[in-house]
Amino acid sequence: MTDYSTLIKDVFTSNGLDSLLNSLVVEKLNFLIDRMTSVNENMNLTAITDAEDIILKHIADSATIIKYIPQNARLLDVGTGGGFPALPVAIIRPDVSVYALDSTAKKLKYIDDTAVALGLTNLKTVNGRAEELGKSVNYRERFDVVTARAVSALNILTELCVPFVKIGGLFISMKGSSANEEIDLAKSGIIQLGGEKFRDNKFILKYSDTELQRHLVISKKQKNTPPQFPRMHNRIVKKPL
Ligand code: SAH
Repeated sequence: MTDYSTLIKDVFTSNGLDSLLNSLVVEKLNFLIDRMTSVNENMNLTAITDAEDIILKHIADSATIIKYIPQNARLLDVGTGGGFPALPVAIIRPDVSVYALDSTAKKLKYIDDTAVALGLTNLKTVNGRAEELGKSVNYRERFDVVTARAVSALNILTELCVPFVKIGGLFISMKGSSANEEIDLAKSGIIQLGGEKFRDNKFILKYSDTELQRHLVISKKQKNTPPQFPRMHNRIVKKPL
């Protein structure tokens, strides 16, 4: 197995995230990177294949949400795909119960196998569509934190994600440079769904010559989501709130 530990520490330090690391976390992240680079050869988990890019754009990027997650939280990652941010969060925060939701069973199988190989007991996968599970009593308003990265535009994502958040909990959307325009289009919907006005936490994710504009767009849930939401997927997409 390739040893990425120095690179992991350097990338985390470059982004003020080094306090999240200890030897066990580094070992598990190292294993995850090694597994991603080999599994990715026959499964399309990510377009990013270079180890340095995986560490910066997937692992460190996922770690930027850690400071917003309360102790012992129940967290749902909507559209987790290859497990981002779900896997790094479960590795770095053993106190957090992570649920990784995706409509594609194949990707979840990879996450389940990876969680077993990593000895993670705090990560479960959930196969289904967000707009359907958001109506189920087992999932609706049952999470302290709901995250989504690279799933869809914010005005669609809010309707998919906010129904899962408990009152007082957080919806955290991880966005790139289009965040400002996306917030503008989503600002009436977030209120209708029971969330507070979005806060935009903007920062640069960086390592060596790479600098990426990132935004953690966060809304705290204030009121219950009205029962008519989430609507059917085609309605959500055709007529965003
Ligand atoms: N969050 C990951 C993956 C993004 S790809 C990352 O940042 O790398 C988007 C994923 O969202 C895909 O795996 C797709 O299957 C899933 N997805 C999209 N819409 C969904 C929905 N309505 N319900 C559940 N999963 C959905």
